[in-house]
Amino acid sequence: MKAHDGMYIDGAWRPAAGQDVIEVVNPADEQVLGTVPAGTALDVDTAVRAARAALPGWAATAPAERAARLGALRDVLVARAEEIAATVTAELGSPLEFSRAVHAGVPVAVAGSYADLAATYAFEEKVGNSTVHHEPVGVVGAITPWNYPLHQIVAKVAPALAAGCTVVLKPAEDTPLTAQLFAEAVHEAGVPAGVFNLVTGLGPVAGQALAEHPGVDLVSFTGSTAVGRRIGAAAGAAVKKVALELGGKSANVILPGADLARAVKVGVANVMSNSGQTCSAWTRMLVHTEQYEEAVALAAEAAAKYGDRIGPLVNAKQQERVRGYIDKGVAEGARLVAGGSESPREQGYFVAPTVFADVTPDMAIAQEEIFGPVLSILRYEDEEEALRIANGTVYGLAGAVWAGDEEEAVAFARRMETGQVDINGGRFNPLAPFGGYKQSGVGRELGTHGLSEYLQTKSLQF
Ligand code: NAD
Repeated sequence: MKAHDGMYIDGAWRPAAGQDVIEVVNPADEQVLGTVPAGTALDVDTAVRAARAALPGWAATAPAERAARLGALRDVLVARAEEIAATVTAELGSPLEFSRAVHAGVPVAVAGSYADLAATYAFEEKVGNSTVHHEPVGVVGAITPWNYPLHQIVAKVAPALAAGCTVVLKPAEDTPLTAQLFAEAVHEAGVPAGVFNLVTGLGPVAGQALAEHPGVDLVSFTGSTAVGRRIGAAAGAAVKKVALELGGKSANVILPGADLARAVKVGVANVMSNSGQTCSAWTRMLVHTEQYEEAVALAAEAAAKYGDRIGPLVNAKQQERVRGYIDKGVAEGARLVAGGSESPREQGYFVAPTVFADVTPDMAIAQEEIFGPVLSILRYEDEEEALRIANGTVYGLAGAVWAGDEEEAVAFARRMETGQVDINGGRFNPLAPFGGYKQSGVGRELGTHGLSEYLQTKSLQF
């Protein structure tokens, strides 16, 4: 696996300020894939200066030219899809087919959508006797997690570049090789020097230095609620703009008239996908008491089928964390109907697809984000109770409703406190705004809503 030993700053790979490195480990076999430099505040400072210097030129670049660079970036991502998929599989552990379809495929759609939007967006509009200009916010500090390594990067960098912002990216320490590949792609796409910069490093060192740097105008963060809260507080103190995509505990509500078999099958697949390391995963399945045992049996059977088909968790710490939650679920009195905390393989950070029945809303496995292949099935007596349970966590990122009648599902979805709801298995839409109600975050990603996060308005009156 190729690993750069420098930082991509101001259009070239440059030596890091310090000597420290981060080992990148393949979570499927625990072998070291390579090392990347562990950046310090000095590297972050160099990168932010480069981004600031490039800002006036890029902000003044015609939107059509920014669109052309994003279109070229999309094409490079297509041309290098196989390499991207192999890299994600190596450092995240996801099965190659999934890496091809999702980890390499979705970023192509997102980059393409911003190439189109940059070309067509109304960066100037008339409002009465005013002209409103939508101008770039400035230098963006992007901090991303490992669970969808390339998607999380592209969902920030593509709209930022479309808006005319420049970027310093600090990717997750577990998946820096994908980030290095992305930097190569940006370079190949002909994006001018300094517009995009990459500093690899540890969160509390490089990440924190980036979030606190006075030369950064907007911090866009995706990751844990604990770190998001700190970044939000620091941004508040500095009166700096901030976008936070945090955790979730999304509800999959199966109403009595729904196609139960399909709802359970798709629901289990949604949780097990990416080994449960998805912030929008429907980790709580809500089933009417009369269909409850049937749903539990179907879910246990579906989970057992996943057996060997899911990859490991990203690292030993996440594996321990998830196993800890499974033990906690058992201790709290939930009924284990599939999987368990026993590691299914000797090597690699695997956790078996796990399903809990008899989960009550107060249990930790019904309230806290586990971030592993663990489904909790809860029982409800009527729709009001289902709604109370669905809305009864601090999170509000995503969710699903299944009903015999689409209108009934929509009526229920309208009362859910969450940023996205899939109706009867609705497909992922890369143009629809993605983001959280309540403690799931601040701001939206994707589509025009994602673009507007990187813009600020100036109105001229005539
Ligand atoms: P994390 O929040 O620690 O890491 C996310 C990013 O933030 C990484 O790039 C990391 O280096 C950086 N970071 C860490 N500490 C920082 C700091 N003090 N200042 C600035 N940046 C910092 O998440 P994690 O430890 O990798 O995962 C822990 C939990 O977070 C998971 O179990 C899961 O619940 C949640 N998570 C959520 C998402 C999501 O998409 N919402 C993604 C990954 C993890």
